[in-house]
Order: sequence, then structure tokens, then C-alpha cells
Amino acid sequence: MNVLVLNAGSATLKFQVVRTDHDAIAADTDVKLARGQIERIGGEAVITVRSHDGVSSRHTAPLRDMSAAVEWLVEWATSGAANTSLTSRAELHAVGHRVVHGGERFSSSVRITPGVAIGIEEMIELAPLHNPHNLAGIRAAQRALGEGVPQVAVFDTAFHQTLAEHAYLYAIPYPLYRRHKVRRYGFHGTSHRSVAYRWRRISGLPKSDVRVITLHLGNGCSACAIVGGESVDTSMGFTPLEGLVMGTRSGDIDPAVLDFIASKEGLSLPQVEALLNSQSGLLGVSGLTNDMRDLLAEAREHNDRRATLAIEMFCYRARKYIGAYLAAMGGADAVLFAGGIGENSPEIRARICDGLQWAGLHVDTSANAALHHGREGKFSTTESTLQAWVVPTDEELLIARDAYRTVSRG
Ligand code: ADP
Repeated sequence: MNVLVLNAGSATLKFQVVRTDHDAIAADTDVKLARGQIERIGGEAVITVRSHDGVSSRHTAPLRDMSAAVEWLVEWATSGAANTSLTSRAELHAVGHRVVHGGERFSSSVRITPGVAIGIEEMIELAPLHNPHNLAGIRAAQRALGEGVPQVAVFDTAFHQTLAEHAYLYAIPYPLYRRHKVRRYGFHGTSHRSVAYRWRRISGLPKSDVRVITLHLGNGCSACAIVGGESVDTSMGFTPLEGLVMGTRSGDIDPAVLDFIASKEGLSLPQVEALLNSQSGLLGVSGLTNDMRDLLAEAREHNDRRATLAIEMFCYRARKYIGAYLAAMGGADAVLFAGGIGENSPEIRARICDGLQWAGLHVDTSANAALHHGREGKFSTTESTLQAWVVPTDEELLIARDAYRTVSRG
């Protein structure tokens, strides 16, 4: 089955075309026929695409909205220009959509029916910055491929619907949960699930024996405690703001700070929330950048004090979460690193793990240094009782596989 995977944002559309089926999933032989992204939708869009044979190209086109963007990419993917081997739209058999918020209603991937679309719409108040764009992607794909092509929603929150009440509730008056569904939802679920699924392949363990901590460290960062293959705790909460220090987000903070900053700085509460989301984290502390690579260079080359401090805060918070989850889970077999930072930065991985020797995690420095650019591998010593691995995440592949499974189940 050829699946078009779409991740629609406000002005961007990331996509892949993946060939997958039962045999491919069993043998890990799915094929990525094409991938790319369209940026600056709404104006003169910039399109970067890469076909199966590794050839990249850049285009520009006036794409006024998400529909025009999806139409462009479907045409490109099936026209021969992309080298996908697809020659008609009919060869795109299904569409898998990344949808950020599924609330409490969606605990797994589902085929998109009119009822499901309404459900996604109802979740807009919980994810006003994401769900509307995900819905626009769904409608655009329906327009481009017709109602007959099945579409599947894969939710960022779904994997965390297994959290127990004591883990997902905030200790606030219970009626606020009942009335407004104020609770922890968690995000990055598709990434954590992808990494945990890969761990089953690596370790040869059945799902019931998977006991790991996954760290997704990209621009957004989150940790997840996984027991029996299921999420039992995760660091993001009601929104993706809670938890680890991120590129531009503060992560955990005393909520009393919001009102204090608002009154001291003459800001509204939404303005303070925006400050915590987009001007904090690595960027806020360093005053320089949200990009870990640049921050590491600043610290190394110029000995910049605040760059060094931001990196230290980032690593310290991640290490605290690992410790907390080891307690919550009663121990784990491995810590798995993913995301742009987790997959590419031996230095950050080493600094997070340094101080976890008590838990049985000892870093093998040369193994750690060799893991970057998508390489998978172990970087703890053979004596370690808590292993450390880089396991690159592949959310798009999981979305394609979910789409295949959901459609073939009927
Ligand atoms: P997103 O969450 O937007 O998908 P990514 O997973 O691509 O982001 O992660 C982006 C982050 O990964 C940036 O902070 C970037 O600097 C960092 N990163 C990428 N390569 C390296 C590297 N070699 N060393 C350190 N950080 C890196």
C-alpha cells in the first residue's frame, strides 16, 4: 500500500510517501518513495523535496492555502518528476495524518469519518495552534484525492492515554477536570511509540517486557516512562509547555510566576504564556539561540557563560526526569535517546547521563562519539545495568504503518 503521510502546520506541510504492507512491517522493509516539506504556504511557497534515489530539489510556487499545497505535492508525487514510480493519483492508496490533539476520545489511530473530523474539531480548544491546521490538511487531501481514498488520523496524545489517573491529573479541584478536562495529555506520542517499538526489535523482547525511558530531544523535548510497552508517565502536560527545558519553552515552572511577570512587566496572561512558549528555554536563558548546535559552539569557542548555563539547565532537567521515572517505574532496562539533539549530540547525551552511575548507567565514550546522523546503537558500557541507546525516531513511518493497519482492518 502506498501511503501519503501529511504533517500540516500553520504555514508548512511536511510529507512523505511510504510503501508499506504486512510483509514490509514484519521485515522492516517499508520503502520511502519521497519526502519533503512546503514552507511559507499562503504566499510564494518554498518547496524542498527528495525522491527515493536521494535526489533533492527546491522549487517555488504561489500556493495560497493548504489545499493548493496538497494539490501541488500530489501532482508532483504522481507525475514522474518525483521518481516515486507512481504514475497516477489512484496509486496513492491511503493518507495518514499527524493530528496533535485527540483529547480523551482517541486512544489509538482511527479512520477519518465525518464523526472523527468533528471530534478533531472539538479538540481545537485544547490545541488551537495545531488541530485547525491538521484539519485543513485532512480536507485538502480529501479534495485532492477524493472521498474514496481512506484517511487515517494518528494522534500525538493517543499513546499517553494509558496513563493512570494519579499520573494524568493535576492536584487541583477535581471539578475542573470534570467540567473542562483540565489534565495532563502528553505529546510526542508517535515518536515515543516509534522508539519503543524499535526497542522491541533491538532487544527481542515482547511488548509486555518493554521497560524503558524514552527521551525525545528536538526543538520540543519530552520524556516518557514506558512499562509493558505502554506509556505510564510523560513530561508534557495539558499543553507541550510542561516538563523538560526546550528550544524556546521553559518546561516546568511555578504557575504563580505567570501573574507575577504579568504585573511586573505590564503584560497580559496570554502574553506571558507566549513568552514561556516562544522566548524561553535555551533561547531565553542564553539570550542567543534556541539551536543546541549553535549553543554548544558558543560555549566551546567563546566560553559564553549563559550558553553554558542554558546547556547545563537542559541536561540537569533531563537527568532529573530520568531519576523520577526510574522511581515511578521501579527501574528500567534502558534510556533511549531520539530527536535532533538526542540523535546527534554525544556531548549532550554524555552530560545527561553523567550522574546516573548510581543507577547503573556508565557511558562508553567512544561508542557515544560514533553515534550521530541517524545511526542507531548502544553507548553504555557492557557492565551497565541500565543501558543507554540512540534509537532514531521515525514518526512518519509509524503513521504510514498505522494507516495501513487501520485501513486493512476495515
Ligand atoms: P524538531 O523538534 O523541530 O523536529 P529536531 O528533532 O530536528 O527538531 O531537533 C532540532 C534540534 O536538534 C536543534 O536544537 C538542533 O540544534 C539540534 N541538533 C541537530 N544536530 C545537532 C548536533 N550535531 N549537535 C547538537 N544538536 C544538534
